Amino acid sequence: MTDIESFIRGLPKTDLHMHIEGSIEPQLMLDLAARNGMKLRWDTAEALRGAYQFDNLQSFLDLYFEGCKVLVTEGDFRDVTRAYLRRAHEDGVVRAELFIGPQSFIERGTPLEALMSGVLGAMQEARREHGLSVGLMISVHRHRTEADAMVMLDQIMPWKDQIIAIGMGGAEIGNPPAKFARFFKAARDRGFRTTVHAGEEGPAAYVREALDLLQVDRIDHGNACLADPDLVRELAMRRIPLTVCPLSNLRLQGVTEMARHPLKTMMAQGLHVTVNSDDPPYFGGYVTENLLACRDALDLSLQEIVRLVRNGLEAAFVTTEEREMLLGQLDDYLARHAGASMS
Ligand SMILES: [Zn+2]
Repeated sequence: MTDIESFIRGLPKTDLHMHIEGSIEPQLMLDLAARNGMKLRWDTAEALRGAYQFDNLQSFLDLYFEGCKVLVTEGDFRDVTRAYLRRAHEDGVVRAELFIGPQSFIERGTPLEALMSGVLGAMQEARREHGLSVGLMISVHRHRTEADAMVMLDQIMPWKDQIIAIGMGGAEIGNPPAKFARFFKAARDRGFRTTVHAGEEGPAAYVREALDLLQVDRIDHGNACLADPDLVRELAMRRIPLTVCPLSNLRLQGVTEMARHPLKTMMAQGLHVTVNSDDPPYFGGYVTENLLACRDALDLSLQEIVRLVRNGLEAAFVTTEEREMLLGQLDDYLARHAGASMS
């Protein structure tokens, strides 16, 4: 590892867009399948990793939902969350905000109580053992109905104080944000922060709907906004954070090569861009690998890398006091590595 790589890995950073059910490393997926008496289509971690070739978002989602089936018990949810948080801590992450989409698990018979206590238990452990700041976001599936999402909202209320935000993901094309306007209003009325996947494969109009109709606090991805200059100006002026996931965009063919990724253009246009991992094993990397891939392909300066990391800390769903503490950690790190950060 070069000095620059270790400097970037050590930066106190965030991961604000990461799906717990998309973070199962291949070996853990095989272990969980065996534990639950299931037979996967792959026998080895290498064979499973070899299947991670995607043509688009839907081809990924097909494999992703198949992988989700190995998560059944409270212990399964604890183990997968624990494994991700350990890796994130080693990756320099100081604040992790994790999505989980309970709908498909509940449908297969896992009680919501088991899912929540597994995930929240692992989060509590990571706070204690690694000093990690971590928050849970509940995500609904946009390919299901708004009525289904409303049911989910009712079901999670017993854990309201332990949930930092409500989000939405899944197949984007044909499922515009407008379909969920009442759901997002209900979530906001109940005091939740909100975020939504928009403009990943969908058009700029979906990002506009997310902003105007859903009135979200953050946009997940958002890349497509660049096609609408007025929208870019508004997102920049209102400092709406975009949780961009470069390796995810590359692996899902949103860009043909990393050198064509719009990240640097987005930064140049004043957008509040952050870099995140989305589903790390499927897309080939945690946050540091995402930053390194962007640095190599887009020739980002260290100042630009630090800007992206600072943007993440500023976009986190934390209290003002906690944000100041986290930004203080970054400033301390930069002061200790003044030589590296200036080069
Ligand atoms: Zn995502």
